[in-house]
Amino acid sequence: MSLDGDYDPDNIFAKILKGELPCVKVYEDEHILSFMDIFPQAPGHVLVVPREPVRNALEMTDGALQAAIVRVKRIANAVKTALAPDGIILTQFNGAPAGQTVFHVHFHIIPRHEGVALGAHGGGQADMEVLKDQAARIAAAIEHP
Ligand code: AMP
Repeated sequence: MSLDGDYDPDNIFAKILKGELPCVKVYEDEHILSFMDIFPQAPGHVLVVPREPVRNALEMTDGALQAAIVRVKRIANAVKTALAPDGIILTQFNGAPAGQTVFHVHFHIIPRHEGVALGAHGGGQADMEVLKDQAARIAAAIEHP
């Protein structure tokens, strides 16, 4: 999957957006759906998935991208409040050679703690009860404009 290609409307995040597959939700509005990554690279790894049906950020309309990145910031601040990490990675991959595995545009919010190594990308599956607890704590810390 290079940078160019057709959007697959049956990709896993499209199905989550349509409610056809479950997720551990953190937040949603008309622009994005945010949920816990089930193969977290660190505890509290959150995804922000724009509703716009495109493969990567380069294909996003300016308005959808602006709305998404503002929400990434807002949710990252909630992660900071809820989980008190020492650092936070904000990242986003475009194309398989860049590390993208799900071809619906999305952003990663990954809390980092001093001295704790980052887990593998797409590593082991997290405990659902732990994810639900983290999601509830992050959701409660979101400051709504
Ligand atoms: P990327 O490699 O940037 O495309 O990231 C895709 C991310 O989606 C990875 O971090 C996966 O762990 C995560 N992921 C894959 N399937 C699911 C799912 N069903 N629910 C939540 N996260 C998922």
